[in-house]
Amino acid sequence: MTVRLTKIIATLGPASGSKTMIRNLVAKGVNIFRLNLSHGDHETVRQWIHWIREIEKERHTFTGILLDLQGPKIRVGKFEKGSVHLKRGQRVVFTTAKTIGSPSLVHVQYARFHQEVGVGNRIYLDDGKLSGVVKGVSGQSVEVEMLVGGTLSDHKGLNLPDAQLSADPITAKDKADLKFGLQEGVDMVALSFTGAAKDVRRLRAMIKKGGGKGVEVIAKIERKQAVENLEEIAEAADSIMVARGDLGIEIPLTEVPVVQQKILRQGAKHSKPVIVATQMLESMIENSRPTRAEVSDVAGAVMDCADAIMLSGETAVGKHAIAAVGVMVETALTTEAYLAGTRTIEPWSRFFQGDPSINEGITYSANRMVELLHAKAMVVFTVSGGTAKMVACPKPMVPIFAFTSSLQRARLLNLVRGAIPFMVEEDRHLLLHMDQMIVMLKNKRLVKKGDRVVITTGIPVGIPNWTNVIRVEVVT
Ligand code: PEP
Repeated sequence: MTVRLTKIIATLGPASGSKTMIRNLVAKGVNIFRLNLSHGDHETVRQWIHWIREIEKERHTFTGILLDLQGPKIRVGKFEKGSVHLKRGQRVVFTTAKTIGSPSLVHVQYARFHQEVGVGNRIYLDDGKLSGVVKGVSGQSVEVEMLVGGTLSDHKGLNLPDAQLSADPITAKDKADLKFGLQEGVDMVALSFTGAAKDVRRLRAMIKKGGGKGVEVIAKIERKQAVENLEEIAEAADSIMVARGDLGIEIPLTEVPVVQQKILRQGAKHSKPVIVATQMLESMIENSRPTRAEVSDVAGAVMDCADAIMLSGETAVGKHAIAAVGVMVETALTTEAYLAGTRTIEPWSRFFQGDPSINEGITYSANRMVELLHAKAMVVFTVSGGTAKMVACPKPMVPIFAFTSSLQRARLLNLVRGAIPFMVEEDRHLLLHMDQMIVMLKNKRLVKKGDRVVITTGIPVGIPNWTNVIRVEVVT
């Protein structure tokens, strides 16, 4: 059976928030659901989580749940008729005073907006589809001349790339959402508008205090400052997201592909999974088929060995949510099949400088062993997930069957490229039972007679990030 290495994340929303849709999305190939609290209140999202967990049991699978904190995302308020049309050249008043918007008045849901923008600052609306420039500020009112017009609907995002915003990346709403998410047992939390490693550390401390043992932190790179602090953020976070939506406004759009490459490199260097997100199949929100360029974008992320590719509006509000996942699955499988015949693992020098640790030496050598012996799979035992992440970082072209005794870890492994999680009882003598595990993999048709399998683990077992053994088995 061909195993897909690249993981798929789907955002839930009104178009997909039913038990049937969640079941169909999992069946199609979704590994992780992203809960974006802009799309549902706590009651709705609680129900989604409940359904995900029920379907997980029903299908005997592991599904990750990612809570995406909104952060200090500035949004416009509501309009009388749900939307307005703003014309190029038109002057519009943006106000922080609570009001229902009209074609000449837009409410902004950020209290310090009028204090922190200045004349000449650019304003982008709805992921940059509309834009304007500040012409004057008076009290709570900011006069904007529209440079690019279009339709602006309720609660669309607003970006101010020229302003120095003082907003805390963890807002009061985020704190309430985090408390809710931890109570409901989410597996990972994404921090929007991460600026520096200290933001990641702060969220981690809040998760710990909130009882979220083992819950992982994903740093979203969507600000210029985060790009500047990439290395320290990659070290501090568990995973990194190329959040191209806001990033494409906060920095020049043409720099986004280069930043995506830099983030992928940092992820590999620090053995941290990388998610490529936003507008991957944007046109499928409306159309049943994507554009050629979109499929190329998905294939590009797979060729660059991203750990996961993400759908946002495509599955949250799109008309073709299941088909969008299908396009990702097919594109990933086709691209990976091509790579399997052409690609070699990343060179050692790309990640490991100076004096390598035993873990680094062993996990890299396991990858070399796969290539030298034409092995068909790797097997790891992982407590903290560290071994699976390290084995994955040279980007092997074979699946990594990852055995763990923790349900939470099994769900989290959904974010690691190539890792296929399996639960085992806590066992200090796992290597002695290796034959049983290989039989199980063979019964599931994941390996076949004659296949070579490279196993790596730590002896004694149970120590996080401890890997010192490589063993090769032949499936009989
Ligand atoms: C993004 O900006 O690309 C992103 C993933 O964040 P959000 O969808 O929350 O704006």
